[in-house]
Formats: sequence, C-alpha cells, structure tokens
Amino acid sequence: SPSLGPNAGVSSVIRKKLMGYVGFANLPNQVHRKSVRKGFQFTAMVVGESGLGKSTLINTLFNTTLYAPKEPLPPTAERPKTVAIESIDADIEENGVRLHLTVVDTPGFGDFVNNDDSWRPIVENIESRFDSYLEQENRVNRQKVVDNRVHACLYFIQPTGHSLKQIDIEFMRRLHTKVNLIPVIAKADTLTDEEIADFKNRILADIAHHHIHIFQAPTYDNEDEETIAEAEEIASKIPFAVVGSDKVVATPDGREVRGRSYPWGIIEVDNEEHCDFVKLRQMLVRTYMEELREYTNDVLYENWRTEKLLSMGVAQDSSVFKEINPAERMQEDRVLHEAKLAKMEAEMKMVFQQKVQEKEAKLKQSEEELYARHKEMKDALDKQRSDLEEKKRKIESGRPLTPEKSNTSKKNRFLRA
Ligand code: GDP
Repeated sequence: SPSLGPNAGVSSVIRKKLMGYVGFANLPNQVHRKSVRKGFQFTAMVVGESGLGKSTLINTLFNTTLYAPKEPLPPTAERPKTVAIESIDADIEENGVRLHLTVVDTPGFGDFVNNDDSWRPIVENIESRFDSYLEQENRVNRQKVVDNRVHACLYFIQPTGHSLKQIDIEFMRRLHTKVNLIPVIAKADTLTDEEIADFKNRILADIAHHHIHIFQAPTYDNEDEETIAEAEEIASKIPFAVVGSDKVVATPDGREVRGRSYPWGIIEVDNEEHCDFVKLRQMLVRTYMEELREYTNDVLYENWRTEKLLSMGVAQDSSVFKEINPAERMQEDRVLHEAKLAKMEAEMKMVFQQKVQEKEAKLKQSEEELYARHKEMKDALDKQRSDLEEKKRKIESGRPLTPEKSNTSKKNRFLRA
C-alpha cells in the first residue's frame, strides 16, 4: 500500500512506494549515454602578458600539444600594436568521451607601453560570442545551436610577489560580470612558498576591495561531506599558484614526472605539495567543467541578455523581466496591423463621403440653375402667349387698335397694296 511521505498534506506531492522495478532508475544512464554520444563543448580563454606560460599551461592541462613551443621574438621583429584574439580548436577524447575544446588566446595583452584599453577587445570578443548565441536562439530552426561562449577565463598574474597591478584590476573589473574568472599566479616556481602565501593574501584583498567576483566552486545543501570538503579545499587555493611543463623529467628516486628541473631539485607539476596545478585542473576540468558551463549560461549570459533586451526597449513588468514570447509578439503585431488597416479604411471612407457630398452639391446647384432657366423661359413664353391671346381677342371684337398700332397697320396695308 502507498506510504505517505512526511510532506503529505503540506504539498501536493505524495510519496509512493513502488511494487516492483519500473525502470526510471536507469534515467541517469540514459542521460549519460546521450551526452557521451553528443560530446561536450568547452571554451577556455587565457589572458596575460606574453611569456607568462599560458600556452605551456594549456598543453599541460589537456596533456596534449595544442600550442607549439614559441620562439622568443627577435628584438628587430615588428610587434603588433593591438591585442589580438586567436583561437585553437581541438577534439580530444578520453575513455570514449569526446570534448570539443576551444582555447581563446589574447596575444598582446599587457605588452604595450600604454595598456589602458587592453581589456576592450576582450570584452568585445566575449560579447560578440553572446550575440551569436542569442541570434541562434532566436532563429526559427534551433536544431544546431553552436555554443561558442567563453566558459572560463584563466587570468595569469605575473609572479612579482607584490600585489595586483592596475592592468590586472582593470581587466578583472571589466570582465567579472561577463565570464567566469579564474586567477592564477603564473610560474609559481619562481617564488618561495612563503612569498606565494603572502602574494595570495594580497591578491585576495585587492579582489575583495574592488568587489570583483571570481568563480567559486558551488556547494549545495544536499551534498555529501566529501564533496563539500573538496569544494572548500579547491576554494582555499585560489588564486592557484601554477607551474606548467610539457617535459617529462626523471626524479632522483627514479620516477618519470611532468615538471621543471632546477639545480636545487625538481618541481613536479602534478604534485600537490609543489603547486596548485592539480586543484586548478579539478576546478576547470575534472569536477567543475559542467558548473562553469551552467553558470555561464544561467547567470552570466542571462544577465547580459536581459540587459541587452532592456536596452533595446523590450517591455518589462514590475518584478520579473518579461520573456519575449514569439507567439505573443506576433499577436501584438497583428493587432497593431489591424488597427492601422482600420484607420486607413476610415480615412478612405471619409474622403469618399466628402467627394460624394461635393458632387451632390454641384449637381443640385446646376439643377437649380437649369430649373431657374427653364422657369424663366416658360414665363417668357407664357407672357408671349397671353399677349397674343389678348391681341386676338381685340381683333375679333373689332375694337380699333392703339393709334400707334393702327398707323402701322395702315402703313402695312398701304405697303401691301
Ligand atoms: P605564453 O607567451 O604566455 O604563451 O608563454 P609560453 O607558454 O610560451 O612560455 C614562455 C616561456 O616560459 C617558455 O620558455 C616556457 O618554457 C616558460 N614557462 C612556461 N611555464 C612556466 C612555468 O610554470 N615556470 C617557469 N619557470 N617557466 C615556464
């Protein structure tokens, strides 16, 4: 028999016990199979002055040579004058899971005498990716939406050991509402552990002072202790002090490791005692890649989209931003169109009536004129007739005509004779 859950009576959800295996427990596996088949799309951006080890770190992160080793520019070479945006695409596969990875590089950032506007082309690039996504969402056919939005931005901080520079603060201030910022201390092997600890504290203080939001691994109430501890562990390492290397070196105890070799010893990339590379990889790839994608879509993109639509004058109701529902919009358009047609029709009717009235007035006028002329003629004829009748009567009664007239008659008679 069904057992009522603790919420029965409070909410309308009633908990029921199943009599046998139904099969929806297999749903996670269905989702898993489907997403594995479709593959994943991830776009990471790297920003920082040249020579800070960006290409090396990306190669180290994805364990592949995405970037060929760079030759330092000869001093005579002409340097570009603006920040360029370049991207590399790679399809990588691990245990049957396909990842379409895009790495966006920003060569030139921070490399000029005046770096005041270095952030600008990067903001524009991130926004144009949002634009392209919005445009695809609004298409009639949304079957093949390509997500080129930047899901994470690794910001490389020069290992000065002091504090953030103006260019770092300016960049993060401009970008933190548009992209998941992950600050890293580049080439951490050039600083001592103590220097790193101090540097991290100062960077965090600067970030807090400027109200910059950096990506935090999310934790949920219903998660187990282990997951929460992991998230806290990752968070405690921000900004990650990283070391990159695509070389394998031999340790004194005979192991082969990815690392950098120094006269005083070897720095191992994958050793958590040596640097935060492992934690960064966990944040970016192993544990929170999906969270980064989700936060980009649900928060960063959504806020940008809302702002963009509002600035375009899309109506807003008091508390919630109104969705632009295409059906509703078509209905609105139709009502507007019909109102316009009705107005045009009314105007045409009015003009027509006016014309008819004018014509009628003219016709009436000419009718009156005709009638007046007709009457005039008739009156004249009537008068002529009555004159003639009068004459006739006088002649018949033999009365003499008026002297003047008799003269005329005499003369006439005379002439006739
Ligand atoms: P990018 O210009 O930022 O892409 O820098 P590259 O990845 O091309 O690296 C520039 C130079 O720094 C190369 O000679 C790398 O071998 C070296 N390099 C890269 N990562 C590190 C690191 O973590 N520590 C040290 N000491 N050097 C590094």
